[in-house]
Amino acid sequence: MNSEKTLIMVCNDDGIFSPGIKALAKVASEFGDVVVVAPDRQQSAVGHAITMSVPLRANAMTVAKKYKGFAVNGTPADCVKLAHGNLLKKNPDLILSGINHGSNAGINILYSGTVSAATEGTILGYSAIAISCTAYPEEADLTGAMEAARRVVKFVLDRGGLPRGVTLNVNAPEGEFKGIEWSRMADSRYVEEYEDRVDPFNRAYYWLTGQFELLDDGNDSDIHILNEGKATVTPIQYDLTDYSLLKEFGEEGL
Ligand code: MN
Repeated sequence: MNSEKTLIMVCNDDGIFSPGIKALAKVASEFGDVVVVAPDRQQSAVGHAITMSVPLRANAMTVAKKYKGFAVNGTPADCVKLAHGNLLKKNPDLILSGINHGSNAGINILYSGTVSAATEGTILGYSAIAISCTAYPEEADLTGAMEAARRVVKFVLDRGGLPRGVTLNVNAPEGEFKGIEWSRMADSRYVEEYEDRVDPFNRAYYWLTGQFELLDDGNDSDIHILNEGKATVTPIQYDLTDYSLLKEFGEEGL
């Protein structure tokens, strides 16, 4: 048996000073040592972007007066790559990303920097979990999201990690914990995304607004279960191949 203490790395996309990352570091500390490597500023909706044209810097700091941390001037995916290759002396046993302020259910998964930090961990061979709370405000009550994180972390550590290629995406409503269920990503999209405006110099500009549209009436989707007041956990994968269509199309010549 490995006698060394479990090491958990915590990242996010809201930045190293967000309340959500402190809440997640607290949950992680119940399971082992914690190191926080996160962007030095808000990086929501950057998806899986990586920085290629400017140097990255990692400033050592202490998070919530307790946890060893590094604030990185890059994206969530940069943070995980840099932690893996350069910042951490020991490989973490688990990578957590969150707790994001805002839902990462449905199509939000694809735009999310929070989920991409976890996915980058998975690509590099770690077990990784993304955790989000549907409420945006910094003062949101993350109690239920913390309990959801606690249960899923325990699930993953108890089974000795996740299979290669799989990331867990957890979402929770604001407030107290009312249960958690396995789910799938709801089919959804944003429509009418940009408001046309005119600046003081009479030039047009566009501001992202967008209405979220749910295209899925299944009762097993993440959004359906969240709307019932429960937390959700969806196994996702970075292999985007559609294997059933590959088989079907593959039998036809081109
Ligand atoms: Mn965010």
